[in-house]
Amino acid sequence: MSSYEWRFIGGHLALDLANTMAWRLDPARSVDRLGSAALLADWFRTATGLSLPADDHVLDRVRRLRGATIRLVDAHLDGVAADAGSSPLVHAAWRSALARATPGERLPLTETPAAAIEDHLALAVAELLHRPDPGPLRRCDGDGCGWLFLDTTRNHSRRWCDSADCGNRARVRAYTGRRRDRAQDGT
Ligand SMILES: [Zn+2]
Repeated sequence: MSSYEWRFIGGHLALDLANTMAWRLDPARSVDRLGSAALLADWFRTATGLSLPADDHVLDRVRRLRGATIRLVDAHLDGVAADAGSSPLVHAAWRSALARATPGERLPLTETPAAAIEDHLALAVAELLHRPDPGPLRRCDGDGCGWLFLDTTRNHSRRWCDSADCGNRARVRAYTGRRRDRAQDGT
């Protein structure tokens, strides 16, 4: 089941959830890495170390939570108002998780194992979005990438999800662009 090598570059569980949509800004390449309930359980176990059950119902709810998270973070980054549905969706999931939680105890709760993955993720998303200062949220500059991360570099200069990946592609493009310019200049 672990044939796909999960990558966790977000610096926060909520952002790593968002990043299970690969190449989300390029419709031609966009891939949902959470393609099945088994993949969701595998991703969640790799991300958190917790083995919890997943079924199609939870997968559907997690996908909707992920979509709302992406739309809210994008709106924040773009300085625009979010759509009307995303915030209520996150809050509803958050309230459900809190209703099932026991203060001071770690989720999951044994009575509701089916909802446990969604509950964990809803709490993570709410934690990220309710920070007094959302902090150094960034979106990768790579063409079509759209991966989100917390920029924890000292001077807030991180531009890429992975400098060896999108960063490298951009360097190659810049290099070939310069070569082309020089060729056109006849130098
Ligand atoms: Zn990227």
